Amino acid sequence: MQAARWYAARDVRVEEVAERPLQPGEVRLQVKWCGLCGSDLHEYTHGPVLIPTRPHPLTGKVPPVTLGHEFAAEVVEVGPQVTAWQVGDRVTASACLVCHRCPWCRAGRFNLCERLGSIGLCADGAFAEQVVVPDYTLFRLPEGLSWEAGALAEPAAVALHACKQGRLQPGDTVAVVGAGPIGLLVLQAARSCGAARVFVVEPVAGRRRLAEALGAEAALDPTAVAVDREIHQRTGGLRAEVVFECVGTPPAVETAVKLAGKGGRVVLVGIYTQASPLAWGRIQAHEKTLVGASAYTDEFPLALAMLADGRLQAAPLVTDRIPLRDLATRGLQQVLAEPDRHVKILVSPQ
Ligand SMILES: [Zn+2]
Ligand SMILES: [Zn+2]
Repeated sequence: MQAARWYAARDVRVEEVAERPLQPGEVRLQVKWCGLCGSDLHEYTHGPVLIPTRPHPLTGKVPPVTLGHEFAAEVVEVGPQVTAWQVGDRVTASACLVCHRCPWCRAGRFNLCERLGSIGLCADGAFAEQVVVPDYTLFRLPEGLSWEAGALAEPAAVALHACKQGRLQPGDTVAVVGAGPIGLLVLQAARSCGAARVFVVEPVAGRRRLAEALGAEAALDPTAVAVDREIHQRTGGLRAEVVFECVGTPPAVETAVKLAGKGGRVVLVGIYTQASPLAWGRIQAHEKTLVGASAYTDEFPLALAMLADGRLQAAPLVTDRIPLRDLATRGLQQVLAEPDRHVKILVSPQ
């Protein structure tokens, strides 16, 4: 079968790979759609970031590895000891590969597993005709949910987990820094969780328009407006109760901390590869809280329910649909060449 395999930075090859037999507890899926994620771009431009360079403790995987972890697929084969799934089931999957034995797994905090791995980084992923995953990762797609929307369940779960980490309350004023796929899903999730007002900070005009169409009170351009002063004014000096940082750069973190009001919480959702100084005095004096949000724990069922009933809209985020063979040229390279034009690109092996 065809699969898009990461060999090194700037070296992703769509090539023929052999199918492997299923181990106990594994399920083989026919991929329908798989979303291109910001983390795939990180691996492409300057990886390995999360791709293991030594055999992964859970999977033993080393590169080359098939990328892709945001997917909807159909079950085509079930391995020994799999009882909950049948050929023909429509599914999506948590990307988290976990040990089920460490203290964090036993506490239900699977995203903190001591041997945590991710499908599409530490095991072959879904930029392929077929993907093999452990049965515990699977979730059934609600009836009527499209394959395309199903491929957005994984980032939607990320967004809902971020809301949980931010302890978002009904009536809260929220700011979202960065209106990429995660930021736009966080915006929608926050609205559904009862946020009264959501401000978005985003330099790309098209993404600002999308943010306002999806429920932002205002989407502000940080290259043209002093967003800090603007949000201070619009909120009578109170600023935001919860700020979601969905970019991952030092200036974006700085903005996020400024936009949080006294006692406010800043949720770090981006991927942070650079250390940077922060205005710690303001965090201390204003009793702000910084909290991390990594992947998800139990948010998949809610993510799927919200995609199915429209509280989360997937379709407006999808800016292109491409065949697997074009992943490098029309996917990875295209997003890097024209980041302003794209939010979520879906890839299909069919
Ligand atoms: Zn992702
Ligand atoms: Zn564990």
